[in-house]
Amino acid sequence: MRFDKRKNDEIRTVRITRNYLKYPHGSVLIEFGDTKVICTAIVEEKVPQFLKGSGQGWITAEYNMLPGANAQRKQRDITKLKLDGRSAEIQRLVGRSLRSVTQLEKLGERTIWIDCDVIQADGGTRVASITGSYIALYDAISYLINAELLKENPIQYHMAAVSVGIVDNEPMVDLCYAEDSKAIADMNVVMTEQGNYIEIQATGEARPITEVEMDQLLLMSKNAIMQIIQIQKQVLELKS
Ligand code: UDP
Repeated sequence: MRFDKRKNDEIRTVRITRNYLKYPHGSVLIEFGDTKVICTAIVEEKVPQFLKGSGQGWITAEYNMLPGANAQRKQRDITKLKLDGRSAEIQRLVGRSLRSVTQLEKLGERTIWIDCDVIQADGGTRVASITGSYIALYDAISYLINAELLKENPIQYHMAAVSVGIVDNEPMVDLCYAEDSKAIADMNVVMTEQGNYIEIQATGEARPITEVEMDQLLLMSKNAIMQIIQIQKQVLELKS
């Protein structure tokens, strides 16, 4: 039995509130159960040095957790004068995932900055960040199209992410913190609507993951991601 009585293949309630903030070109509040992340997308009309003159655009992300997002106060990175390794790992994953579904040459020489701020953490903050940022990115692109700065949408595929893991020797999807903290294995899957993989992070923490378990986890994550993509499409008012 899971903490919140969910079935092993059942995701938490996913809520996406679009246009959450006034100023960014795209902004959402995404909730996976009690995990809450604010994702914004802001367009900047310049690219990093290595892309200057290439005609290509860039998408990059930053990730942060508020001190009050956890049961114990989390010290701000700035007070340690260095970015936490975990934050660096997560923000690179978010940026890579979004770039992977976007034709950067069609974005023009501009950068879209994605900022993910976790306001409440209860497991799965990175997958919520990816899933929410996709909507914020979509809205920033819509802004560029409406402003006639872009002719066509450079986003090629719908995508979302979910966590899966093995808890008490059972595979389960969308782990909350209580499950995550005692998981034998932990995995994050980012996938397109077509069922193609963008990134998989999988770790056998207490013991290695068997091939049979891996197949179960991948199938579970695929089913969950397809559901989450339907939620994203409803929020974007797109036909499924
Ligand atoms: N967590 C925490 N403090 C931290 C980092 C993580 O309380 O400094 C909790 C939080 O609930 C988070 C969970 O541990 O969602 C799992 O963290 P993990 O690094 O696996 O990433 P996530 O599942 O959030 O993507």
